[in-house]
Amino acid sequence: AVNCCSIEFHSIAENVSFARVAVAAFASQLDCTLPELEEIKVAVSEAVGNAIIHGYRKQTDKTVRLTVKIYKEGLEIIVEDSGQGIDDIDLAMQPAYSTDPERMGLGFVFMQSFSDRLRVESTPGLGTTVTMFK
Ligand code: ATP
Ligand code: MG
Repeated sequence: AVNCCSIEFHSIAENVSFARVAVAAFASQLDCTLPELEEIKVAVSEAVGNAIIHGYRKQTDKTVRLTVKIYKEGLEIIVEDSGQGIDDIDLAMQPAYSTDPERMGLGFVFMQSFSDRLRVESTPGLGTTVTMFK
């Protein structure tokens, strides 16, 4: 990578907005448009929100790691948690699918529409890694 940044923070809801601002600040060295930057922030919010809400449930003392890599070819964003993991990744990624009846189930839809490549790796009981490449 041409440049790389990695941060870790606790699994509290307030850190979703921290993560989106941090990524936007790092990505500002690229000459991307404001709408592009907005899209990056949405994708990061969804991935980090999922790690905190679904991965760690209500545990607020766990760690989320966010890595941003700038390549000549594009931008890679990796969000990792060591939470409960996803049993069926294909099902979880279906539009409007959620394990929480209060939710829309659109997080992965936003991540998918942002990314040229979206990879979700998860092991139940061990955690989840979401990698987006744009
Ligand atoms: P929304 O994002 O619209 O608020 P949602 O979070 O349920 O709703 P998605 O973000 O698309 O929808 O995620 C779909 C489902 O995948 C979640 O309901 C959850 O069961 C599972 N999931 C997603 N990310 C994780 C994660 N990091 N750890 C564990 N489960 C996850
Ligand atoms: Mg979500």
